[in-house]
Amino acid sequence: MAAVKLTVIGCSPAWPNPGGAHSGYLVEGRGSLLLDCGPGVLRRLRERVSWPALDAIAITHFHLDHWGDLVPWVWGSLYLSSGDPVRPELWVPTGGRATLEDFGGRFGFADMFDRVFVLREYEAGTPFEAAGFTVTGLRLPHYTMEAYGFRVSDGETTLAYSGDSAPSEELGRLAADADLFLCEATLATGESDGSDLRGHLALDEAQAAFASSRARRLVVTHRPVELDARGYELAWDGMVVEL
Ligand SMILES: [Zn+2]
Repeated sequence: MAAVKLTVIGCSPAWPNPGGAHSGYLVEGRGSLLLDCGPGVLRRLRERVSWPALDAIAITHFHLDHWGDLVPWVWGSLYLSSGDPVRPELWVPTGGRATLEDFGGRFGFADMFDRVFVLREYEAGTPFEAAGFTVTGLRLPHYTMEAYGFRVSDGETTLAYSGDSAPSEELGRLAADADLFLCEATLATGESDGSDLRGHLALDEAQAAFASSRARRLVVTHRPVELDARGYELAWDGMVVEL
């Protein structure tokens, strides 16, 4: 069985760290699966190959820093494609197809994403197959946004990715016994979330989710460069982890 390799393409928070790309995590095993596709991710992927030929892309939620580069992905695909273009599957939350049609109508044309990707919708808690992995999206609290984290497994190796989330017991289930938990920690403190409705984690909250999950390794991501890592293992653009 192929080993699973995680490459951090970009890991900035909702604004870019200096020189950084937004959320994009490439998981490679039997196939290639990109988790989120924020601004700067496509440029980074193109530093590796002239145009990425991925099997699938899965989006946690529709905040721009997690999906924005799908727009230039469409334009490049339409412009550069010749013959039989590669159409990656694009997995979005239930209702996401209509959301993309709406965005398409505003940014270009309604079926722009349909032309370039094979659109698929995932349901909360229902595993789906993508790029040779079994992926499950679990609903997580993130302000007023419908947001999911992903549990990705090839049957032997499991990676959990929080996407964006407020503190939640669901994070422990998402990463239960995972080989690696890629967990956001955007905040200096939980109190600095600044509203009644929480949406992100501080380091101690990511650590608490990790402890409850009994995952084997925690990598903290989506963290502003201005905040130190206090000894935690921090994701960086270009980081490669063999699982
Ligand atoms: Zn978000």
